[in-house]
Amino acid sequence: MKALKYIVDTTLRDGEQSPGLAMNMEQKLEIARLLDEAGIYQIEAGIPAMGRIETETISRIMAMRKKSKISLWNRLKIDDIKKSMECAPDIIHMSVPVSYVLIYSKLNKNKTWVTKNLFSCVEYALSGGFEVTVGFEDASRADITFMIALAKQLKEMGVSRIRFADTVGVMTPTRTYQAIRDIVENTGVEVEMHAHNDLGMAVANSIVAAKAGSNYIDTTILGIGERAGNCDFLKFIRAASIYDFGVTEKTAAAVQQSTLGILAKQLAAFV
Ligand SMILES: [Zn+2]
Repeated sequence: MKALKYIVDTTLRDGEQSPGLAMNMEQKLEIARLLDEAGIYQIEAGIPAMGRIETETISRIMAMRKKSKISLWNRLKIDDIKKSMECAPDIIHMSVPVSYVLIYSKLNKNKTWVTKNLFSCVEYALSGGFEVTVGFEDASRADITFMIALAKQLKEMGVSRIRFADTVGVMTPTRTYQAIRDIVENTGVEVEMHAHNDLGMAVANSIVAAKAGSNYIDTTILGIGERAGNCDFLKFIRAASIYDFGVTEKTAAAVQQSTLGILAKQLAAFV
């Protein structure tokens, strides 16, 4: 029997960040319905801090979904997390910068500040009774020992999963295998792989991550997403057939085909 693993679809969150690809509410609802009917394990439905239209879209997705778990993306801000909690999702996801370049140069903070802030946000979301997952932003350029230490503490606190985000898309399959293996073996934590396609390796990196012990893989329909995009859902399902991701190639192809129809206007601009 094939090992069971899970798709986390982020078309509505990261996919939405494709240059020039803004989706309206109806389009988002249709895509969410497709994903839910296809039996996708988890749908990252949006970022409540973006405002009223976003939260209304999320509420409508929450109301209509039948099977998929709905997760919401957050910065490390209690106010943002509060907005997510008001949407009553299944999972609250928060993103923490873990590379020195992001922590010291971009945020102008330090590791102690980031860790303290992260832990208070995690406590806050957990106290509301939510499942919490934490995204390691720019993990590919971060110190592996720092990530392992953080993952261990988060697991103890009750965080169910950490996301390894190759935010700038610089990972190769060999490096991906090593990094995911190191985290899984040293912490026992569930790892979710989030790949970007800058080097054309998002699908390859995601398959290798699964082999290294990552049980959750982030994908977007048609691989849409920031810059070169994310891991392409259909291509990944085709290539990862040694695992059971709960969705057949035929279903994945149908989801892609319907999405092409829903986003026809926006996608025409890309051709
Ligand atoms: Zn991303």
